[in-house]
This record gives sequence, structure tokens and C-alpha cells, in this order.
Amino acid sequence: MNEKTLFEKIYDGEIPAAIVYKDDVCCCFRDIDPQAPVHLLLIPRKPLPSIEQATPDDAALLAHLMLKVGEIAREQGLAKSGFRVVINNGPDAGQAVPHLHLHILGGRSLQWPPG
Ligand code: 5GP
Repeated sequence: MNEKTLFEKIYDGEIPAAIVYKDDVCCCFRDIDPQAPVHLLLIPRKPLPSIEQATPDDAALLAHLMLKVGEIAREQGLAKSGFRVVINNGPDAGQAVPHLHLHILGGRSLQWPPG
């Protein structure tokens, strides 16, 4: 059996994190190195390594995550001011953790294009 990813360990409560939302499919917690006043990571329970490796079997999972983004952003007070959702995929994007995660960033004006 493969070793659990860092984010599986967070989902399972084996590594502490400031969790703001959790259900049977996903959980959302505060990034340990926040790049904005609000910086959350939304992860599926399933250890999909990256968005590029998702398959049609993951359609319901991906829809669930996208719907939770809005719900969580509203709950965090970001809906009116705005926020950004980022998925890093692979080395050029700087993906550090091989477990799909959506960054939800808000609480300040965000530059475009990103670096
Ligand atoms: P990536 O660069 O892979 O898109 O993003 C990984 C993110 O995970 C980074 O923003 C990093 O700060 C965050 N991170 C790494 N280790 C931990 C941890 O142990 N706990 C939390 N809450 N966030 C982490």
C-alpha cells in the first residue's frame, strides 16, 4: 500500500490543520504559508495526484469541489470582494504536493498575470 500523502494525513486528522470545512468527499483548511489574508486549500479525500490525472470517473468529485469553492468563499466573506482559485499542476507551476488541491485566495487585491 502506498504511503499516504501529506494531505491525506491532514484529511485523516493525523497532521493538524486549521480546517474550515469537511465532508465525506473533501476538506478545506488554511494554508500553512498564506499568500493572502485568506489562503485556503480545498482537497479531495481521494489522493488524485494532479488535475491532469483526473479522468471522467472523477467528474462528480470535480463538480463537488467546484461547488464547494463558492460555498466556502461565501462563508469566509469573500464573495463580494472577490477571490481567486488556483490549481498548480507540475513543475513549471510549482506544484509541491502531489495531491490535487485548489488554492482559494482572497482578502486583498490580487495581481494579474500571476508570476
Ligand atoms: P502547491 O505549491 O503544491 O500548489 O501548494 C502546496 C501548498 O501546501 C503550499 O501553499 C504550502 O504552503 C501548503 N502546505 C504545505 N505543507 C502544508 C502543511 O503541512 N499544512 C498546511 N496547512 N499547508 C501546507
